[in-house]
Amino acid sequence: MPEIIHLLPDNIANQIAAGEVIQRPASVVKELVENAVDAGAQKIELHVKDAGKTLIQVIDDGKGMSEMDARMSFERHATSKITSAKDLFQLTTKGFRGEALASIAAIAHVEMDTVEKDAKIGTKIQIEGSKLKSQEPSTRLRGTSISVKNLFFNVPARRNFLKSDNIETKHITEEFERIALTHPEVTFIFSHNNNIIYNLESANLRKRIVDLYGKGFNTKLVPIEEETDLVKIYGFIVKPEFSRKTRGEQFLFVNHRFFKDNYLHHAISSAYENLISNKEYPSYFIFFEVTPDTIDVNIHPTKTEIKFQHEKSIYPILRSTVRSALGKYNISPSLDFEHEPQFDLSQEVLKQPVRQPEIKVNTNYNPFKDTSTSSQEKPLSPSLKPNKQEWEDFYKITEEAKVEQPTEIEFEEKQDNNSLKIQVHKKFLLTQVKSGLLLVHIPRANERILYETLMEQYMRHPISSQQLLFPYEYQLQATQKLEWENNKTIIQRLGFEWEWNGNMLVLGSIPSILEVENTAQCIDNILNKITFTEIDKGEIVHELIVSLAAATSKNSNKILSQEEMSYLIETLFQYEQHQYSPSGKRIINTITLDELNNFLSL
Ligand code: ADP
Ligand code: MG
Repeated sequence: MPEIIHLLPDNIANQIAAGEVIQRPASVVKELVENAVDAGAQKIELHVKDAGKTLIQVIDDGKGMSEMDARMSFERHATSKITSAKDLFQLTTKGFRGEALASIAAIAHVEMDTVEKDAKIGTKIQIEGSKLKSQEPSTRLRGTSISVKNLFFNVPARRNFLKSDNIETKHITEEFERIALTHPEVTFIFSHNNNIIYNLESANLRKRIVDLYGKGFNTKLVPIEEETDLVKIYGFIVKPEFSRKTRGEQFLFVNHRFFKDNYLHHAISSAYENLISNKEYPSYFIFFEVTPDTIDVNIHPTKTEIKFQHEKSIYPILRSTVRSALGKYNISPSLDFEHEPQFDLSQEVLKQPVRQPEIKVNTNYNPFKDTSTSSQEKPLSPSLKPNKQEWEDFYKITEEAKVEQPTEIEFEEKQDNNSLKIQVHKKFLLTQVKSGLLLVHIPRANERILYETLMEQYMRHPISSQQLLFPYEYQLQATQKLEWENNKTIIQRLGFEWEWNGNMLVLGSIPSILEVENTAQCIDNILNKITFTEIDKGEIVHELIVSLAAATSKNSNKILSQEEMSYLIETLFQYEQHQYSPSGKRIINTITLDELNNFLSL
């Protein structure tokens, strides 16, 4: 019998591959412009006619190609960007598959004119449906120009499925904007039917955003920045008051690659919690840098999903970075303290455009020290029970904050804060503010402060733990054990260390702030969160720290001194989210003078 399996001719194979890579004119734009960026171009022109159906031309001043490379570049799997599989984990270029030009040439009329840097003669090549039509020397002086005409000329089904010119142009513009944002240092020109759509000079990121989205953006942007051992995050978020009713400019980039990620998007929008309504969308331009081997780059060419190895750990870092940026600019809702000279905290905050949101502490004063003794070392709030190491860490953070931003002004301010504070039924704190009475729920305030402190610690290093004299045993079910182990890294970072005895969890260490008698409840909380929370993936670290903070601060039933109460309020108001506890309960409210009057006139 004659064999029935045979290899497909290249042009057909290319055409099939093209179906994957090139779905619409915007895909061609993406591939060509990215190639120009990879070629080190400083200026890139994109000229489009009839939404790319008639012409897509990209001209760059990059390194160009030799005659040989110009021919080779249209072969399938021909790339200069990787040579071995291990390069896949060290990518610094956009392209690496070597498929784009071969695919485009299979389904369009392509003309390439290129000259290698310092070469006297360039090369001009014409290819139609993978077939070389002509090749001649060219007099080009710099870089590469590639024109793609009659897209899908030999794939009528594809051509007929293209959407209206408006929609295809919108897709092209989107691709263009993503690359222009990723490379503000490159000059870009984009024209459609000979009308200039964008003329973008080389700039910094802020200017690039403004050039793309309008002058109004200049005052709307809040910079963000954070660097940890896992990830570097920078870029801009848009102030909450400018959020949009429709999904606006939401851009995430990792290692200079645009990507979409609902999970990280959730981290950002949850940082805007209570600042915008749930019908509005925040805008953002956020760049991540991670070591290339911690993301999966071997993504589908047309897809924008990227897999992060440390996604779960990046979530809380991102969320907290966005939050503190919002806090720094003090765009959080604040109470009406403005004209209360004795307690002018938020006014003071307003005057400091870049104040640190970190906890600031009068280091001479330990709010948790027992008022009945003068020892600084003995922790005194039964609710917060920090151990020595914990507080050393705590102060280390605050010391760092102090170095960056002196806190004197606030503390001077604080000293003439004479307004009386009253503790009611141990649980509530009452004090006078301009508009009336401020009411604070003390345990919830403690929970918020503890949560922020722990989150801060978690981000920088594992939360400190205490070794137990006698291991603490707790029986789990087999599935719970699996869940626990699935979230191992996070739970370890929270300060737990354990071994297994069958399904028995044998804890050798627990977080320092946790009391042994609250451990069972804390484990239950954690198991509950990791097993049942729908968004478990989304918010696991947040949830676990909430559990820890809640388990630790639940017995806040101590009589507080005036100093301690002032400290409590002051610390609380350093946080952007001072209105709600991490588990979403209201911490503070004011009762206005009118309300008080009405109350008595009833
Ligand atoms: P990839 O970008 O994945 O390597 P492409 O098919 O897009 O694959 O391009 C193939 C090769 O052609 C590239 O690796 C590069 O060497 C070369 N090339 C493509 N476009 C340009 C350009 N504008 N300037 C210089 N070289 C280019
Ligand atoms: Mg490419």
